[in-house]
Amino acid sequence: MTSSASQGEGGAFPPEREEPERLSPDDEATRREGEFLADALDMQRRRAEAMSRSTPGVCTNCRELCLPMAVFCDEDCRADHELRMQRRQRMGRL
Ligand SMILES: [Zn+2]
Repeated sequence: MTSSASQGEGGAFPPEREEPERLSPDDEATRREGEFLADALDMQRRRAEAMSRSTPGVCTNCRELCLPMAVFCDEDCRADHELRMQRRQRMGRL
């Protein structure tokens, strides 16, 4: 009987290294332009969100700095803002 020795010689060969595709200057410019556009859109979206969403540390009603985790500087501002939001929601539905 023959003991089965290790089979398959040279099965492992070093994996081929693939060179990353090089972009031509034209492609790079297009890509940068696209990134710039995406950045601008992102900025706009963020600004729009900031207008409607509250930022911790800034009063959502009067935009004054308040407590780090607070979104209103006082109860008056909270009530004022909630009233405005309710009115806006109602206007959006009608
Ligand atoms: Zn306020």
